[in-house]
Amino acid sequence: MIYFDNSATTAIQRDVLDTYVKTSQRFIGNPSSLHRLGENAQNLLTKAREQVAGLLGVKTSEIYFTSCGTEGNNWVLKGTAFEKRPFGNHIIISAIEHPSVTKAAEQLIAQGFEVSILPVNAQGIIDAIALKQLLRPETILVSTMAVNNEVGSVQPIIAISEILEDYPTIHYHVDAVQAIGKVPITTWLTERVDFVTLSAHKFHGPRGVGILYRKEGTRLSPLFAGGGQENNQRSGTENVPGNISTAKALRLTLTDSEWKIEKVRHLKDSLLSALSEYEWVSIYSSTEAATSAPHILCFGIRGIRGEVLVHALEEKDIYISTTSACSSKKKLNSSTLEAMDIPKKEAETAVRISLDENNTMTEVEQFLTIFNQLYKKFSKLNR
Ligand code: PLP
Repeated sequence: MIYFDNSATTAIQRDVLDTYVKTSQRFIGNPSSLHRLGENAQNLLTKAREQVAGLLGVKTSEIYFTSCGTEGNNWVLKGTAFEKRPFGNHIIISAIEHPSVTKAAEQLIAQGFEVSILPVNAQGIIDAIALKQLLRPETILVSTMAVNNEVGSVQPIIAISEILEDYPTIHYHVDAVQAIGKVPITTWLTERVDFVTLSAHKFHGPRGVGILYRKEGTRLSPLFAGGGQENNQRSGTENVPGNISTAKALRLTLTDSEWKIEKVRHLKDSLLSALSEYEWVSIYSSTEAATSAPHILCFGIRGIRGEVLVHALEEKDIYISTTSACSSKKKLNSSTLEAMDIPKKEAETAVRISLDENNTMTEVEQFLTIFNQLYKKFSKLNR
């Protein structure tokens, strides 16, 4: 099997799974319980929070555990909207955000909020300068992703942060779900960033755990009211084994990350140069290292719908996506390619390869051999 769908989800790492299992067995108490078992679980949770904070270079009190990236994004958008409504009703998001941002924004529009869309260029990179024109006195939130999940474009978070320096009351949120472990933290967690969303299953952690970095002093309405867990900001009995093993997964992901990034980039470059040779192949990801994440490559074979290629590869035990996992089953067109002005007919051909450090050059070579066979078969259909 060749698994090239790591942006959809990653396999949980063995050590991380061991930690999950052992924690589940040994720390059975509810962290809110008064007795020793509760205290033990609470102490362990504190350690996990400290570890995550240390790895991200932030304060322990700024780390909140959630259930996934989608929850983190919804929390920031809706939590900001509810909290800051007296000060303004205007939100800015980019044209290529994940549905957990765009759909949350649509819900807020239905509640009377106004949402402006930041455009992107032909490489899927946000136009930071356009932000200046969109900002209004009633703007309460700007939300932009760090790395796009469909084409892998790396976003100008530092430039956006610089612009927002002059607007300290506006919340700035970065969805870094696809960035962690793939592009350096310093490029997306700037001093100006107020909130960052992460998701454990994208970095070999367990399903069902997310992390929200929330800068000290920021105000955000809780979405979950209840028993007052997570410093009274996110109620619900804590997922102790999930959170502990997530901290471990994050540590493992960030260990030797420069070397891993280089390895993944090398694999992607090999794919890119081989695929670019084909007459009927169009590459949709940026080909410049500075603006493209090392692990995501979006391309298509002219005249062949993306799902046809995905299923043809699946027959050979090779797994890739039609741009994003969320849109693929619903047969939705890629919103990112649409924002990049790629014609609909072309966008329908797009597929996404997403790599990680566990992939090998042998897999890349095997993929290319199979791809070559399929391409020849498809070329006959194309004529
Ligand atoms: N943001 C981005 C950029 C993503 O790629 C994803 C998932 O693919 C999410 C948010 C949602 O994360 P989760 O699957 O943990 O809800």
